[in-house]
Amino acid sequence: MDSVGVAAAAPDAGPGPAWQSKCPWGAPSTTSISCSLADVMSEQLAKELQLEEENAAFPEVVAAAEGPFITGENIDTSSDLMLAQMLQMEFDREYDAQLRREEKKINGDSKVSISFENYRKVHPYDSDSSEDEVDWQDTRHDPYRADKPTTTPRRGFIGKGKDITTKHDEVVCGRKNTARMENFAPEFQVGDGIGMDLKLSNQVFNALKQHAYSEERRSARLHEKKEHSTAEKAVDPKTRLLLYKMVNSGMLETITGCISTGKESVVFHAYGGNSATEDKVIPPECAIKVFKTTLNEFKNRDKYIKDDYRFKDRFSKLNPRKIIRMWAEKEMHNLTRMQNAGIPCPQVVILKKHILVMSFIGQDQVPAPKLKDVTLSSEDMKKAYYQILDMMQQLYRECNLVHADLSEYNMLWHDGKVWLIDVSQSVEPTHPHGLEFLFRDCRNVSQFFQKGGVAEALNERELFNAVSGLNITADNEVDFQAEIEALEKMNEDHVQNHGKKLSTFSSDGDPPIYDE
Ligand code: ADP
Ligand code: MN
Repeated sequence: MDSVGVAAAAPDAGPGPAWQSKCPWGAPSTTSISCSLADVMSEQLAKELQLEEENAAFPEVVAAAEGPFITGENIDTSSDLMLAQMLQMEFDREYDAQLRREEKKINGDSKVSISFENYRKVHPYDSDSSEDEVDWQDTRHDPYRADKPTTTPRRGFIGKGKDITTKHDEVVCGRKNTARMENFAPEFQVGDGIGMDLKLSNQVFNALKQHAYSEERRSARLHEKKEHSTAEKAVDPKTRLLLYKMVNSGMLETITGCISTGKESVVFHAYGGNSATEDKVIPPECAIKVFKTTLNEFKNRDKYIKDDYRFKDRFSKLNPRKIIRMWAEKEMHNLTRMQNAGIPCPQVVILKKHILVMSFIGQDQVPAPKLKDVTLSSEDMKKAYYQILDMMQQLYRECNLVHADLSEYNMLWHDGKVWLIDVSQSVEPTHPHGLEFLFRDCRNVSQFFQKGGVAEALNERELFNAVSGLNITADNEVDFQAEIEALEKMNEDHVQNHGKKLSTFSSDGDPPIYDE
């Protein structure tokens, strides 16, 4: 939902048709970049024109709508507002779809038909169905000009006979609702709706009102959290819609803001809702990991997934967008394995496309600190070390996984223990590079704890053997790594010759154990 695409694109459209100069959505003299209701509607309009005429009048609108990410320059709104607008649009669409169904039912194949056109909530040119297209250049009503306010007398109606208008009249109510938006908190962006003849249905008005109030409360609570706005810019409209649906379905109560913006993912904090349909309990606080759909960020991770046999068959057939979803899927499966083994890690709540919702490690919106950021007593440090040694073994033996990005950055300290996170890149040990990844993990862990003063900490080679159960005897790094690679090669050869992998490595001369 790019709000400025239309405005920005219009001047570039070249010698446009005559309507352009009069067009209320044409280049505005002000460069307000707030995402108003009118903007949302004008974007819809622009899209429709684009499709209809197949000319390039608004090329940027389409580009922005389908492009991967909204940049900082072209949006200046809060995603909650966005959500309210989406909510409104959805209400309107559902209502209109129902009207259409009723219309159809009543009309059947009768020669005389009735139309509910006037009861539609979506602005005629905001609709995406072509049958009710109205050439808006010909509408006499200027949507930006406010009508004289209509007042309803105390008795609740005006007019006579069939011209009677009650206070429940949809149009009158709608206009009043729009005017009442002025009562919302000043920071709440109501767009140009107040100045124009916008009719907000009670339903939509109430939703917006509710939103305005919670917005007020939220901003009072969190106004110092500046990072929110940047985070909200980091998700594209499709993601926002998915997030909005999670809130709308009651699965989540609110998405409060961003915890982390990484190269490949953005993590949000949310309060869990109480969706009635799920038999599983939603944790009171959730973390939402949104895998970025910017494709180039993921190129360098090909090697993890391409060679992971669990995804091998699918990899070649997939488009890049689907591969990104696979990262989320992979993280979900890996977390589930870890959960089953009893390793402290986030619990999976739900996976929706490239969005993974899990339990939040931390409290009251404050994420647990990473091991690299926390200062532990030497006693806790030692405890953490032995816990990690244990977890690495469990991960390898019970989950058949190698973390592959294990370091003090992906371990959180919470509740007096270490929690493992960030396992989208984790692989099985028999992955063509699985043992190399394990060795790297071991090096990170050893170095961290040796520097941290844990005298008992094994060195990386000892740790590698302790975790894998392999018995690589090389006493220097180069030879050690050569042996690791030899083992990996042996496995690959086996795959070539037998079409299947070893289920585990064995270096003590025993025949390898094979997967069934
Ligand atoms: P990446 O490093 O690939 O961007 P991570 O899964 O490591 O993604 O998440 C980034 C950061 O978000 C973490 O370092 C952590 O601070 C925070 N985070 C991620 N998942 C959770 C969670 N379940 N609970 C609390 N914080 C989390
Ligand atoms: Mn991480």
